[in-house]
Amino acid sequence: MTTLEGLPAVRRLTAWEPTRLESLAGEYETPLYVLDLDRVRENARRLESAFPDAEILYAVKANALSDALETLHEAGIGLECASAGELSRALVVTDSGADVHYTAVNPPAGDLDIAVEAWEAYPELTITAGAEDTIDRLEERGYDGRLCLRVNPGIGAGHHEKVQTGANAKFGVPAERAVDVLADAADRGFDVVGIHAHVGSGVSSDQLDAHREFVSRMGELARSVTAAVGDLEFVDIGGGFGVPYREADAPLDLEAVAEATREAVGDVDAQLTIEPGRYFVADAGVLLTEVNTVKDARETTLVGVDAGMTTLLRPAMYDAYHPIRNLTADTEADSSDGDRSRGTTAQTITGPICESGDVFCTDRELPESERGDLLAIGNAGAYGYEMANQYNSRPRPASVVIEDGTVRLARRRETIDDVTSVERES
Ligand SMILES: *Cc1c(COP(=O)(O)O)cnc(C)c1O
Repeated sequence: MTTLEGLPAVRRLTAWEPTRLESLAGEYETPLYVLDLDRVRENARRLESAFPDAEILYAVKANALSDALETLHEAGIGLECASAGELSRALVVTDSGADVHYTAVNPPAGDLDIAVEAWEAYPELTITAGAEDTIDRLEERGYDGRLCLRVNPGIGAGHHEKVQTGANAKFGVPAERAVDVLADAADRGFDVVGIHAHVGSGVSSDQLDAHREFVSRMGELARSVTAAVGDLEFVDIGGGFGVPYREADAPLDLEAVAEATREAVGDVDAQLTIEPGRYFVADAGVLLTEVNTVKDARETTLVGVDAGMTTLLRPAMYDAYHPIRNLTADTEADSSDGDRSRGTTAQTITGPICESGDVFCTDRELPESERGDLLAIGNAGAYGYEMANQYNSRPRPASVVIEDGTVRLARRRETIDDVTSVERES
């Protein structure tokens, strides 16, 4: 696998130092999210080196932790926001707002109010509209700033139907209407700067043809818009750069994706913009969780842990695979006095939530778990904490970050009082 700038194409769960993670769990307790900002920075460098001429934004919804946004901003990466909350976070980090895009998806009125207010303070901000209604509603609020149109290219990609957005009518204006909509917006005084599409989260080396097809449609559309409406500043092809969740999956060949993208977009007099989320943060994060129950059930060995679907939702929501490692068993095996070696057995690892879908893996062959063992769940840096919730009145976990090799608490663990206090505010 080619490495860009000599940096590894992926950081596997096996590459994390188990004793280090054990000491973090000892200090900050479990469940605990760990995000290595040094790896986030490496991923930024790898993307910049594969796409040297592109504008690169980070899709904040993958992991909105302030430390992640600051790290990426320092690395020269812009911020793509999908809500007023994400936009508010981005504005804390940005200098001029020029590197901030707000993508409005059926935006609630309050979100548009906040976005327009943000534009008044940061006039270089870009707003991406995905429906003509959104353009009307921006106009009603006096907005005539930088406008990008999200189009629906009628082509989808993704590892699960819930992450395919290109062919889903929810997202964007049908591509064949784009020229008319943008011509009208330009007439109404908007500063038309770009077109945008994000077709889901599944750009992979073996789906490069689908990626090429999508990007060439975007190139085509950019040429039509330029001819009919005027110059565009950028063509944004979204994110969706895949990461290998399974140990046996090969990492994305980023250079091949970049080359296919350059070829497919064709001759366009506008900058290419990409906005991956997952790719920056997924392999920079792990979730630590402790075993509290081991039960021989008829069908399998059930292993209960203190993280659940409220902590990491992806397995329950997308049937997502995450690598899992028993750190206690690994350090035992490494230690010189470790004369005991554990066998492996098929285990179903499940959390404390009263839902049968609260399962991290089913019948996975792992070292025999014991109560008190520390497990690490890999590739948890993207859509991990972001999708955590308080179902079952369960407080969300803490997050620590590693930067220049040192650790700090980035977000404290919620308490039960945090969960209930909003009910007693008056
Ligand atoms: C979610 C999203 C992204 C990022 O997707 P990844 O799979 O995390 O790369 C980019 N752009 C838009 C508009 C999105 O909604």
